Amino acid sequence: GVDRNKPHFVLLSSPGTGHLIPILELGKRLVTHHDAAVTIFVVSSYSSQAETELTTDAAGPGGGKLFNVVKIPPPDDLSAAIDPAATMVTRLFLVMREVRPTIRSALLSLPVKPAGLIVDLFGTESFEIAVELGMTKYLLSTSNAWFTALAIHSPVLDGEVEGEYVDQKEPLEIPGCRSVRPDEVVDPMLDRKNRQYLEYIRTGLEFRKADGILINTWEDLEPTTLSALRNDEFFGRRVIEGDVLAIGPLVRPVEPNHSTQTINEALFSWLDKQPNASVVYVCFGSGGTLSIEQQTELAWGLELSKQRFIWVVRQPTAESRYSAFFTSGRATAERGHRYGLPDGFLERTRHVGFVVRDWAPQAEILGHVAVGGLLCHGGWNSALESVRSGVPMMVWPLYAEQRLNATLLAEELRLAARTETAPWRGVVGREEVEGMVREVMTGEKGEGVRERVKVAQRSGEMAVEQGSGSSYRALDMVVGKFRCGTA
Ligand code: UDP
Repeated sequence: GVDRNKPHFVLLSSPGTGHLIPILELGKRLVTHHDAAVTIFVVSSYSSQAETELTTDAAGPGGGKLFNVVKIPPPDDLSAAIDPAATMVTRLFLVMREVRPTIRSALLSLPVKPAGLIVDLFGTESFEIAVELGMTKYLLSTSNAWFTALAIHSPVLDGEVEGEYVDQKEPLEIPGCRSVRPDEVVDPMLDRKNRQYLEYIRTGLEFRKADGILINTWEDLEPTTLSALRNDEFFGRRVIEGDVLAIGPLVRPVEPNHSTQTINEALFSWLDKQPNASVVYVCFGSGGTLSIEQQTELAWGLELSKQRFIWVVRQPTAESRYSAFFTSGRATAERGHRYGLPDGFLERTRHVGFVVRDWAPQAEILGHVAVGGLLCHGGWNSALESVRSGVPMMVWPLYAEQRLNATLLAEELRLAARTETAPWRGVVGREEVEGMVREVMTGEKGEGVRERVKVAQRSGEMAVEQGSGSSYRALDMVVGKFRCGTA
């Protein structure tokens, strides 16, 4: 049960691993570092393979239960009710809208009245329930501050910019922040006539209504953008201390004796035999997939780079994209189809490469000393896990806000390399992959990246340090408001 003397927070996670992970980590941190009580509402997706694992895991390693998890089932007939052409983003917004009555009754049936409701990007429509029930409302921005700034500023851009954003000749200005190149915009901004764009703009307006915005970043990582966000004019209202808080990095801990190591014994015993920092880990988030042609080029590139690798390989799709959500389970390979891998690839790379199908224990892999590089789509959780483990990145954006993340990581923070060819415009050729991988793993230019990521690792550790860290203090301010005697 929930301790009545502790400030109680309800955290609402929208479907998807990328949302669930930071919500769970925030829950853990609130309980273990700030002595709060936490209940987590998980709106489950239709393909919840990883979900169950994550929630059972997070609720209490070693038997100690940190918080209650309440599952909010997705509405039954939603898939029938919506346009089959609706994008993943539109579906997420719809699901989160439809589940509101369930969320409301779940909130009302809690034994201890919560002080605060914390939602992710897709949950802002539940703010009205918080208002009705007298709870303070927070947004957890599960991505970085630059993305958050763009989202908040998008309603302004909507009024200023004519025509499609991608057709603009000049970068999109965000006051006080790095401007956004037209083709880097987040997916919902790609087509202003699509329904997901309207939902996205609405969300941008709702962000400003939050009593506090918690961002999965930290002061030293994005100082300029954070101060730009704290500007009254930018925010659209008077900003006071506590309104915009950097509370990250929120990342899953690497647990040395985690169950995944027994389940994936072959993988970890292979990894144990590889030299330090010699293995590239290749994975495109929870559901990124490549076209057959792209998958083939990536395979050749990895082989030609002569670097060791672990590759989470998925069934290729018609285009490179996100494909794990709202589908009935994971794609299965066609008979005789070799996942787009070149003839003899598995055989030739048998001693240097390890191919895993669909899903691998990423946090533990990145935390292994043998891993020296991450080739990924630039999903923010993956990026933070890489930084936490001091592993340099190669960013290959596919969907959502990953084009922004790629620029932030490769050009602004310089913790990553990226391909010359934009993967959303064309196929990245094998030579390019080969060159990038080799450079980051062993090259001279790559050395700067390898060094900077260690510095960022240390600064992230300091940010969350109990007592003194900037992110620790920011989150403590949130909880402190509700502690007995001060409320
Ligand atoms: N992940 C994992 N194994 C996989 C693929 C992904 O553990 O095979 C985890 C990864 O460690 C990260 C999350 O799933 O924590 C993916 O989140 P991210 O924000 O990087 O990308 P998204 O899936 O949201 O696009």
